[in-house]
Amino acid sequence: MIRETLRYHRPDSLAEATALLAEHAGDIRVLGGGTSLIPCLTRGEIDVGHLLDLRGLGLGTIREVPDGAEIGAMVTYADVLASPVIAERVPLVARVARGITGGRQITQQGTPVGSACFNFPTTDAPGMFAALRARFQVAGPSGTRQVSAADFFVDAYRIGLEPGELVTGVLVPTTKRGGYCKIKHASGSWPIATAAAVFDGAADGRLRVALGAVQAVPLVVTADDPGQLAERVRDAIDAPWADVLAPADYRVRVAPVVARRAVDELLEVLP
Ligand SMILES: Cc1cc2nc3c(=O)[nH]c(=O)nc-3n(C[C@H](O)[C@H](O)[C@H](O)COP(=O)(O)OP(=O)(O)OC[C@H]3O[C@@H](n4cnc5c(N)ncnc54)[C@H](O)[C@@H]3O)c2cc1C
Repeated sequence: MIRETLRYHRPDSLAEATALLAEHAGDIRVLGGGTSLIPCLTRGEIDVGHLLDLRGLGLGTIREVPDGAEIGAMVTYADVLASPVIAERVPLVARVARGITGGRQITQQGTPVGSACFNFPTTDAPGMFAALRARFQVAGPSGTRQVSAADFFVDAYRIGLEPGELVTGVLVPTTKRGGYCKIKHASGSWPIATAAAVFDGAADGRLRVALGAVQAVPLVVTADDPGQLAERVRDAIDAPWADVLAPADYRVRVAPVVARRAVDELLEVLP
């Protein structure tokens, strides 16, 4: 149940926002699109006395930056799909956004940054951002900083923010090619395993694949050619995720297949 005394805050400056987060630390949540947070509040899975709405902070834009694209915290999946900057610089982000389920309510309100902040293991955004070496832009009471995807995804539902901090956006390096694959029970279900594949570095030789939903946080493996991939993936998994969707051993078995399919899409190998 949502508390009767829930206080709603809509600051119009980052300074005010971070001061409120620090003042109510432990009893406040940032409200992005609300597509994960509001159901959790309604079900009583999250219980806080304050909500901090980001809509007054102007975080809803996608910008070109010298080495890539900056995606604001309030940019929705629909914004991503409509963006020429994303299409040109990081088409993998649009590729992933196209596969988000839940219909217009989710794509027009849910945000990739909100999904990353929630860090629910069986979602698409964490693995995608890990593959792309994204850097999260964080604001807090003592200023701003960047957090790499490797340091951001700490554990299931846990991210690398300190009390008083929020994510203002994410910087995604230009990555012209990418491949993506996910396996799920039905078109509307949560993924059991996802794989985002890119080339690792400037030369189109080495492969970098981030697996999502296979462990609590994204698992990144690299390989010099696709033939090495299955073994690398099996070696890397040490704490497979298990839930009602699939047991751990099933995830261990499908992860190399999903990784290979993402790489085949990257390399444009037709099935
Ligand atoms: C029906 C349905 C279908 C879905 N299908 C898919 C799917 O196919 N694939 C998939 O990957 N996901 C799916 N999702 C999940 C969806 O991607 C997330 O709900 C959405 O992206 C979360 O973004 P939001 O802006 O709504 O976050 P919110 O719900 O507002 O917030 C989520 C959490 O992140 C925190 N947070 C949000 N923004 C920030 C910030 N800027 N700084 C710090 N903390 C922040 C909040 O406090 C909260 O804890 C689905 C959800 C639903 C309800």
